[in-house]
Amino acid sequence: MSILATIKDHSGRIYRGIQSLLLISIGAALLGAVEMSENLSSGSAFVVSILATSLALLALMYMRSSVVHSLKSAAVAEAEKHHFLTRDAMTGAMTRRYFLEALGNSLGTMRDRRDAALLLIDLDHFKQLNDTFGHQFGDRTLAHLVKTAERIFAGGMVGRLGGDEFGVIIPHSDLIAINKDVRQLLDAMRAGKSHEGRTIPLSISVGVALAPTHASNTTELMLVADLALYESKAAGRGRVTVFDEEMLSDKRYRRLVERELRAAVYLGELELHYQPIVNPDGSTYGFEGLIRWRHPVRGLISPAEFIPIAERSTLIDMLGEWVFKRACADIGYFPGRSISINVSGEQLKRDEIVTMCDRVLKETGRSATQFVIEITETVATAATPEILRRLEALRGLGFHIALDDFGTGHCGFNYLKTLPIDCIKIDRSYIRSLAHDQVAQIFVSALAQIARIQDVTIVAEGVETQEEFALARAAGCNRFQGYFFDRPAPRDKVSPLRTANTDQLALSA
Ligand code: C2E
Ligand code: MG
Ligand code: MG
Repeated sequence: MSILATIKDHSGRIYRGIQSLLLISIGAALLGAVEMSENLSSGSAFVVSILATSLALLALMYMRSSVVHSLKSAAVAEAEKHHFLTRDAMTGAMTRRYFLEALGNSLGTMRDRRDAALLLIDLDHFKQLNDTFGHQFGDRTLAHLVKTAERIFAGGMVGRLGGDEFGVIIPHSDLIAINKDVRQLLDAMRAGKSHEGRTIPLSISVGVALAPTHASNTTELMLVADLALYESKAAGRGRVTVFDEEMLSDKRYRRLVERELRAAVYLGELELHYQPIVNPDGSTYGFEGLIRWRHPVRGLISPAEFIPIAERSTLIDMLGEWVFKRACADIGYFPGRSISINVSGEQLKRDEIVTMCDRVLKETGRSATQFVIEITETVATAATPEILRRLEALRGLGFHIALDDFGTGHCGFNYLKTLPIDCIKIDRSYIRSLAHDQVAQIFVSALAQIARIQDVTIVAEGVETQEEFALARAAGCNRFQGYFFDRPAPRDKVSPLRTANTDQLALSA
């Protein structure tokens, strides 16, 4: 409850106070008047007025104490509320949200960067501790870790970031001092915690990153500290590692992402966002589903960052299945509209793509005709007879096939005759150049003519302005996609379906 609200709540008492003060004043005035009229001695009039003034003073004091009391209780309630929101109930550490906010503040602004260090601490074998000694002991261990860290890093802030993962913000980047303190923390934990007469030794892994040396914003600093922490765990736990640039280019980074991505599927951290594909009149034709990873530490991660890593193993098949299942579940929200999904070239190297799609359609009761499968131009140019057979099989099931990012690879026009495709998506680089680059204009117009002859649809990708929309339309594109219409958004935030001609887009072009 806010201070103002508390005072409002107590305004009844204040109002009653003022009312009594008024009554007393009126009473005193009346008495004075009566006494004057009866011509009593001025002495007794004086006594009456002293009495009235004292009563008024008493009333005022009552009001003052009432207001002071209200303010005090409001301040207590405010502090309790703040504590509840900012502190983790079990350990007393800052909550994740407030910790990240505090971290942002500690790093300063672009103009005024401040030195800081971030420690990420993970309690080793926490699950085993819980299983062996019980959850109560597990809880006490976490609280013990926080208390010890708060004592050792007295000028810092300790936050709980996840189950057994904690962070410490240190307001300087003196690595020698930090290392000394971290070792003290490692030793303190090794000394253990008592349980039923025994001392159970504890172990932690720590990752350290410095700002601004290693990163200057919250997201990146968390990422690099996380890499250092992973390094500590991989090297056998119970140790501290300071971030090193090499960790970024390392294959260990890929392994970390792979490991986390596998877990992300089960933890529900993946999301499919939708971006509309519109007709020339501005009405919605369908949507492209674009995968996103809502990482608990790094925030929303773009597919450009994790798809290439997933493509190095069969993890891409797992993601591909997740995407198609999600699209099947969501299509009911977009009646009469299609959903395009991106299928990686790696998926097309295995028969699994056809059997998976067929199986998911049967499981969900959806029809393949509601979906478009987007493959990239590079896949098409390197297509083996097996890949072409799989594409034909997918078409046989009823899917439409679209050639994505056309113009970025080496796909000549003659490829278009042989590929089993229904749609070509022209890469954004051409759409952006339409206004000033004649080569782009000729390329798009020629492609549109060929497409018309072969009954293939042309989608202009990455339309960002009204001018680009008008030019792409004039060049013969039949469908359009880009920020000008809408950015990709979660299913429930997708703008209502546009309808033909009612939209100003249609009039403007
Ligand atoms: P894409 O299939 O060519 O998707 C279009 C990309 O362009 C999307 O990026 C989209 O957000 C972005 N975009 C749309 N309109 C505009 C615009 O007007 N301006 C600009 N600058 N960009 C625009 P996103 O979502 O980051 O995806 C990047 C790529 O990741 C996709 O390119 C696709 O190749 C791949 N991808 C996305 N989702 C999946 C998936 O589920 N599976 C696979 N295998 N790949 C995926
Ligand atoms: Mg695409
Ligand atoms: Mg594309």
